[in-house]
Amino acid sequence: MDLREYITIVPDWPKPGIKFKDITPLMNNGEAYKYATDQIVAYAKEKNVDLIVGPEARGFIIGCPVAYSLGVGFAPVRKEGKLPRETVKVSYGLEYGKDVLTIHKDAIQPGQRVLITDDLLATGGTIDATIKLVEQLGGVVAGIAFLVELSYLEGRSKLDGYDVLTLLHY
Ligand code: 5GP
Repeated sequence: MDLREYITIVPDWPKPGIKFKDITPLMNNGEAYKYATDQIVAYAKEKNVDLIVGPEARGFIIGCPVAYSLGVGFAPVRKEGKLPRETVKVSYGLEYGKDVLTIHKDAIQPGQRVLITDDLLATGGTIDATIKLVEQLGGVVAGIAFLVELSYLEGRSKLDGYDVLTLLHY
């Protein structure tokens, strides 16, 4: 199956000059969503992961079905002010803007093997911040999985030394 057929490129959104990769057609197609999920599940099994961690909101869409399939937990990474209990936080820069990401302090047990998931790797700021949160809590980043990587933005350079799976490259 060619997953590329299920990614719609939206020019000049959310800002002029950005070619946004819309993954919602892929999620909307049961076969394509399952096919993509199954590949990430196989990768997670290889890496012996105990927990999935994903940044809001599309990291949930990728990570939650993987967690369900493996029978492991999922811990959400959210923008500041969204999680109700004690958190750790890190600030980061995105492809368009700046923000703070947080995770509940008790979401990861030290030594747990974590798979980080998100829909897309652009400049790598979001995933770099997510790695910092996982490691701050003593988690081991066993792997990182994306549906899409925008290779021309060179986000990979922030992920040196980490194992990365990407299903589609642009
Ligand atoms: P980065 O932090 O790597 O620059 O940006 C990646 C984050 O922004 C991801 O969480 C992703 O959801 C979002 N993002 C940036 N560009 C796109 C895009 O073209 N398509 C989608 N679906 N998400 C994007």
